[in-house]
Amino acid sequence: MSQSVLLMLDWNYYKEVSEQVLKSDKRLLFFDYDGTLMPLVKFPSLSAPNEDVIRVLSRLTSDKKNNVVIISGRDSNTIGKWLGNLNLIVVAEHGALIKYPGQKWEKLVVENEEWKKDILSVMETISQKCQGSFIEEKSFTLAWHYRNAGVEEGNFYSRKLFHALSDMVRDTALQVLEGNKIIEVRFTNVNKGVIAKKIENEIKPDFVMAIGDDRTDEDMFTALGSDSVTIKIGPGKTAAAFKLSDQEDVIKLLKNLFLKNEN
Ligand SMILES: [Mg+2]
Repeated sequence: MSQSVLLMLDWNYYKEVSEQVLKSDKRLLFFDYDGTLMPLVKFPSLSAPNEDVIRVLSRLTSDKKNNVVIISGRDSNTIGKWLGNLNLIVVAEHGALIKYPGQKWEKLVVENEEWKKDILSVMETISQKCQGSFIEEKSFTLAWHYRNAGVEEGNFYSRKLFHALSDMVRDTALQVLEGNKIIEVRFTNVNKGVIAKKIENEIKPDFVMAIGDDRTDEDMFTALGSDSVTIKIGPGKTAAAFKLSDQEDVIKLLKNLFLKNEN
């Protein structure tokens, strides 16, 4: 165990989890992508997985006991291009789309672009006022990012946008969510908790682990519950059982827990 991980993660908890891993025959491992496997970057397009991430995922999936799921808010094209060739399940847009190994993407939501128009026009108005912010359009999600805006300006406009959008989606099948420097609008019945439970019911594992850094991962932590090993990256309130303060420690932790006996 590298020292930095040791300092972050409670030793007793780590020991308990490694014993569970050793005893298990059918593991289900959920990993968020941005801010979990890879650090958050200025532009979402600049976050292709590095060699270390690919290597660890490949090694994890080569063990038949491991069922790996990348559970992301990303659009299916991007995350599919990066990780779709690996022997793992990929979830895009917080559960609106899923791709099983060697299969094509399946849409779990009925597509209808109508809802986007009004939301998009409000987001565009705010984007023009808030320098550095930008809109990301996905099949079932519209997201406004303000990580590149000034801190005060970004916070100010994010409040404005959040309230405006919340009013607009009242009594619809949509919801407004706040993440890490992001405001998103998407369908209420689509979240990481719903899809994680669905996959858990399909796989029927004897060990479940979920790691994530954002508010959208809280749905997954809550849905999986206390029988699962849930780990939140970074500060803030969480439903996860444990926190790891640094994203860089995720890969180290995975190596220590699952790949110890390999070179
Ligand atoms: Mg994340």
